[in-house]
Amino acid sequence: MYSEYQVQEERLSSPRWLRLTSHSALLDASSQRESGIPLACVWQPLAELPETDSQVPLIISKKGPVRCSRCFAYANPFFIINDRQMTCNLCNQALQTPAEFFSERELHKELTSGTCDFKAPDDYCTKPAPLNVFLLCIDVSAGALAVGLPQSVLTSLKVCAAHIPHPERSRVAIMTYADTFSVYRPVLPLYEVVSRDTDEPFLCDPMETLTFALDTQMDVLVGCCDALIERLNAASKPSNELISPGALITAAKEALGLNGGRVLLFASGLGTLGLLSLKQRDETKLYNTDRERELFVPQHDALYELGRDCSGLGITVDYYGCAVQAYLDVASVYPLVSITGGDLHLFSRYAGQDAEKLHFALVRTLTRQQAFQVQMRVRVSSGLTVDSYIGHYHRKGATDMEVSILDADKSFAICLKHEERLKEGASYYIQAAMLYTNIQGERLIRVFNTVLRASSQVCKSHLASLYSLTDVQTLHNVLFKQSIMKLLDESVKTIRDQWHSAVMACLLYYRQTAGSGARAGQMVFPEGMGILPLLTIATMKQAAFSLSRVGPDLRMACVAKLKGLSVTGSFLLCYPRVYSLHDLELQEQQPGSVGADGLLHLPNLVPAAGTKLLKAGVYLVDNGQALYLIIGPEVAESFLNQCFGVAQFEDLAVLSTVPELESELNQRLLAIIEEVRRRSPGLYQPLIFLPDSSPTALQQVRPLLVEDATPSELSYADYLMSLNRALLSKLENS
Ligand SMILES: [Zn+2]
Repeated sequence: MYSEYQVQEERLSSPRWLRLTSHSALLDASSQRESGIPLACVWQPLAELPETDSQVPLIISKKGPVRCSRCFAYANPFFIINDRQMTCNLCNQALQTPAEFFSERELHKELTSGTCDFKAPDDYCTKPAPLNVFLLCIDVSAGALAVGLPQSVLTSLKVCAAHIPHPERSRVAIMTYADTFSVYRPVLPLYEVVSRDTDEPFLCDPMETLTFALDTQMDVLVGCCDALIERLNAASKPSNELISPGALITAAKEALGLNGGRVLLFASGLGTLGLLSLKQRDETKLYNTDRERELFVPQHDALYELGRDCSGLGITVDYYGCAVQAYLDVASVYPLVSITGGDLHLFSRYAGQDAEKLHFALVRTLTRQQAFQVQMRVRVSSGLTVDSYIGHYHRKGATDMEVSILDADKSFAICLKHEERLKEGASYYIQAAMLYTNIQGERLIRVFNTVLRASSQVCKSHLASLYSLTDVQTLHNVLFKQSIMKLLDESVKTIRDQWHSAVMACLLYYRQTAGSGARAGQMVFPEGMGILPLLTIATMKQAAFSLSRVGPDLRMACVAKLKGLSVTGSFLLCYPRVYSLHDLELQEQQPGSVGADGLLHLPNLVPAAGTKLLKAGVYLVDNGQALYLIIGPEVAESFLNQCFGVAQFEDLAVLSTVPELESELNQRLLAIIEEVRRRSPGLYQPLIFLPDSSPTALQQVRPLLVEDATPSELSYADYLMSLNRALLSKLENS
């Protein structure tokens, strides 16, 4: 997902890849802590760029990339080059300038560009480049068949397989399971190999005999999907029981062998059979108590070990929890997903109408950019150090992150800390490096660079600059990633209290230092930080942190989503955009038309608050997960007619989406919807049509209107008042 701006990289990496909480650091750890701004950045190494941004240069050098002999940083635009001598910007080591920096200067884009790809030297290629393999492990139990889950998955696969990039290097394999599991040879008629041993799950067939080559066997794959769907439709007495995720991933691990691959595990219920089987343990009386955390711990420690094994073998696990039974025990699957860099999708009550959303999730998984055998390390200037990484990865040694298969949508928070007192006015550098194999099988090193400046907290203007240089969206992303990491150790209530205290500390520190000129009783926010309280109260309404009765499956699925989410993704999820549509013709910029800059104008935004929505209004709400079209019951009939081709409000009930008509207003509305989707290529955005005020419609809309009060949360206005009261009381007592 990206905002519509252009990035032409010079010496710093694009903010689409590397975003700091602030480009200013305070001199010592205690001031930094008191300021409420954690020193951190969010790194999204494969973020998709619009075509208008500068693209990553590839540097091919016979000797490999030039590096510092002391800290091993890669040469970058901040290396100080003085003729034959140069100095490393991270550790200040004096180095000899290599001759090629003079003779082939124009080839060495690493000296001018913030982000570069280097061709990796041969000794970085320790394993053969893997093929891009997807193993779909599909539930065919009675419960799954009753809601058409396996048929939907196979139908989507047939459609998507033709769009998987680089078919010459891509393979697909199909496994089905209930109380036994089967794989299918890439031949017609359908050739099924059944395995019944679920305690020691093993597949004797090597990977080559199980995978469909997408460049030569697409017809066979489509034929097998059709034959399998036909067989499933005619299935009599399917099993009600399911093999455990642990047993299935053990079998998949054997099947994928040394190549590795991405396993997409679809499950409709709790896996109670075989190795690492799961027991029903959901107890509603534990919800929102201190003992709730027991439900967040996997049932077997061996699931962590299995996750680490998968990571070592280049396997990533995605879990599609399509709950037909009420409880899946997502917490027990979570380590397999998180350690291997996978995705966790949860459909709380899966039904036929969810097939569309499932389809879009599958399209994205199969077609987005991926990197294989990924190793990542972040280096920082002397004086600072990396404190922790937060994201879906496997820790390797003290400093490296390893991900089997990294995708375009994943981000990591890199939390830094002071090692010593920083020097006033000095620059401190961050260099993130990723060794990876791309889908074409090339081994590359991608290097990212950014910088922050140290400034004293004594001077008021500097403190103001700390806050004005704060990127509040990145700060919010880091704060919730840090909070998520505490969920296994502390209660949800404690974590929420800590977050509220952090916001309070930030306001108090600012008020006592830079903002002391304010009138008594006046609420003063640091410049650029005014939205932080709104983001805070909105985040508390997310399932991971909510005090309403949220089951452990939903809470853990939300944790998995937030832990890997990008900065723009998290901002939109917590504070949806609400576009005003009913007054399109009155808006200045003519939304839905293309401006002089070649960009399509989007409509005006209104607050995500129920009180601000008019009964005669029409709104498009985008939370990055879905697009909702809300139509008020008193909307003008001429608008209904031009946009939707119906005479009156009641006639909308027959529509499921916006029809394509010849009227100009309809065309502009369709163009707006397309543009919103275009800016979020990584996210599924169906159009959910809510033309009424029925309880079902309101149930879908309410969570989006995050400024409103809920039974367990304050409204934004009331939260601001409570913050102000608490702040005044602290100021009086200080
Ligand atoms: Zn160095």
